Amino acid sequence: MKDETQALKDETQALENGKDFSSSRFSCLLATKDRDFLLSPTGLQVKVSDLDGKVVGLLFAANWYPPCRSFTQMLVGIYEELKSSVSDFEIVYVSSDEDADAFSTYYGHMPWLATPFSDLETKKALNRKYDVEGIPCLIILQPDDSQEDATLGNGVELVYRYGIQAYPFTNQRLEQLQREDRERHENQTLIDLLTNYNRHHVLGHPGPKQVPVASLVGKTIGLYFSAQWCVPGAKFTPKLISIYHKIKQMLAINGKDEEFEIVLVSSDRDQASFDSYFSSMPWLALPFGDPEIKKLARHFDVQGIPCLVILGPDGKTITRHGRSLINLYEENAYPFTKAKVEQLEKQLEEEAKGLPSLVYHQEHRHQLNLVSDGNGGGPFICCVCEEQGSCWAYQCLECGYEVHPKCVKAVNRDSISVTN
Ligand SMILES: [Zn+2]
Ligand SMILES: [Zn+2]
Repeated sequence: MKDETQALKDETQALENGKDFSSSRFSCLLATKDRDFLLSPTGLQVKVSDLDGKVVGLLFAANWYPPCRSFTQMLVGIYEELKSSVSDFEIVYVSSDEDADAFSTYYGHMPWLATPFSDLETKKALNRKYDVEGIPCLIILQPDDSQEDATLGNGVELVYRYGIQAYPFTNQRLEQLQREDRERHENQTLIDLLTNYNRHHVLGHPGPKQVPVASLVGKTIGLYFSAQWCVPGAKFTPKLISIYHKIKQMLAINGKDEEFEIVLVSSDRDQASFDSYFSSMPWLALPFGDPEIKKLARHFDVQGIPCLVILGPDGKTITRHGRSLINLYEENAYPFTKAKVEQLEKQLEEEAKGLPSLVYHQEHRHQLNLVSDGNGGGPFICCVCEEQGSCWAYQCLECGYEVHPKCVKAVNRDSISVTN
C-alpha cells in the first residue's frame, strides 16, 4: 500500500515537474524540472521537445532478459529501415538494467534515445502510467495529446506481427492490417503459400529431388516450423516423425497414404545445419533460407518454434496448434479438423471419468489433483515430457507442478523418494 502511495506521489511529482516549464505532451512524460533532454547514441543531449509532432515508442527492457535482447535486435532493424524513409518516428529506451554499466553496454547497441539510467523517478512514473507489467514492452504514443486514447500498449506484439508495416501504429492502420490479414487467410491457397515467381517445387529425398507444389494440392499439409538449434524441437521432431509414419500407415489401409504430407519450414542458421536436420526427416522441405519462410511465419503469426500449422485439402488453415494436438492425441489427431478435435475431447472426457481424482506420482513428493480446462486447469507444460498440454491434467496445488494424465507414474504415497 505504502509503495503504491509513493508511486502515485512520484507520478504526480513527475507530471508537475513537467508542467513547470512546458505543457508539451512528451515533456510532461520524459523531462523533469532539472532535465529537459534525453540521451542519444552519439553522446549528445537531445531536447525532449524535439519529439513534438512525432510518433514515439517507449521501450521498456533490460539487458539481463533474453526476450528483451532478441526483441531489441529485431527492433533495431525496423527502426533503421523506418528512419531511412520517415522523420516523424522515435524510440526512447526506458531501462530496467541492473546497473549503470549494464545500461551503457546494452544502450550501446541501440540507435535511438534513452532516459538517463539514473532517473529512476521518471522510469517509475512511466511504468505506473502505462501499467508496464512485463518486459520487453513497447508503448506507442501518437504526437497529438487529443489522441491519448490512441496509445498502444502492445507494440511488441505489433512489431513482431507486422514489422515496418505497422507504422504509424494508429488504430486505423491496425484495423487495415487486420482486414488484410483476414482477406489473406480467406483467399489463401497452397500454391500462393509455398511457391514464388521462380520456385514451384519443394525439396524431397534423396536430395536434390524436387517435388512440385502443384502435386500437393488437395492434400492435408502440415507446415512444420522448426530448426535444428531449437531445444524443444529436438524433443518434438522424433515424436512427430513417429506419428507421421503412423498416420501414413493408417491411411495406407485405404490406399490414401498420399493424402497427408508435412513440409519443413526451417529457420536454421546455415545450410549445413539445415541439411543435417532435414536429412533426419521423412517429409518435404522449403529450401534453406527461402524468402517465403519469413512470410509464412508472419502469415501464420508463428511466435515460437516448433510450431505445426495444419492446412486442409482446400489450402485453408485448419489449426495452428498441430503440435499440441499431436502431443495430446498422437496419430488419432488426424485430420486435425474441428469436428475431429471435438470428438477426441469428448472421448478424453469419458476416459477422464475413469481416472482417480488424486494420485501420487513417482517424480513428485506432493499429491496431484485431476483438473480440467474449466476446473482449475488450462494450457500447461507437462513437467515429465516438457510438451504442451490442455484439457485434463494432474496438478499439484502446492507448487503448480503439472503433468499429462498419460505421463503420470502412479505410486503409493510411501514409495515416493524424490526430494523436490
Ligand atoms: Zn507429458
Ligand atoms: Zn508440489
